[in-house]
Amino acid sequence: MITFSLLLSFILGAVIGSFLNVVSLRLNTGKGIGGRSACMSCDNQLTWKELVPIFSFMVQKGACKKCKSSISWQYPLIEGAAGIIFVLILWVFPPISLQAAVTTVIHLFAACVLLVIAAYDARHKIIPDALVYTFSFLGLLSVFMGSGASWFQIPTIWSLLAGPILAFPFAFLWVVSKGTWMGLGDAKLALGIGWFLGIGGGINAVTLAFWIAATISVVWLLMTRGSLKPRTEIPFGPYLILGMYIVLLFGVQVIDLEALKFIFSSGV
Ligand SMILES: [Zn+2]
Repeated sequence: MITFSLLLSFILGAVIGSFLNVVSLRLNTGKGIGGRSACMSCDNQLTWKELVPIFSFMVQKGACKKCKSSISWQYPLIEGAAGIIFVLILWVFPPISLQAAVTTVIHLFAACVLLVIAAYDARHKIIPDALVYTFSFLGLLSVFMGSGASWFQIPTIWSLLAGPILAFPFAFLWVVSKGTWMGLGDAKLALGIGWFLGIGGGINAVTLAFWIAATISVVWLLMTRGSLKPRTEIPFGPYLILGMYIVLLFGVQVIDLEALKFIFSSGV
């Protein structure tokens, strides 16, 4: 039964992921979200067989059936990521009661927004305001969500400040570097992450994001042996999002924050 519901969650996530991918590709292009999907190269309208998430890409070996032009890896990647994240969120935040279900829905909705942000940032190196503000708002909302039987809780001052505190260093870097090291979008993203994870979790997520980004940059340098210059502007959004989910879903802690915990739990 559990296996079946996990499989169902994955399929649901992958189908929604397929839609999110289209949103990320059509966002700010003037194209609507509706309308039949077609090949980007030959405009051939796709049949349902070519629209099955992940599966179609594998069967067609990543190429259009008609014109054989290659299909972006972004399709199966986002669809697979959405499937996995849906499974994990439903596993960690199961909708066991009506109150719990609200939290589940907030997390699922946030995941959808973040997937579009990650895909868009990776491609365009910018985070759309409408998306990141939606995410931040969901984070703020989560601060007020009760646990157990209560719908609502009065947040501590530190859980309210967690967002701004986590966003501040990014905003500072943005000002100091005049936007060349960090985009302001990363600060807005950190705002929501702070609210979702609290200060301790937020610091862990950001640290993880830097480590993963640095590791990938080094591997990239070694693999290309410096023949390909690393892109001067690395979109940091996807790493921040990855860091957030490693902390949120697996509770990974890379820095011991006992000292901080003492300050923040002192009942302020
Ligand atoms: Zn085609």
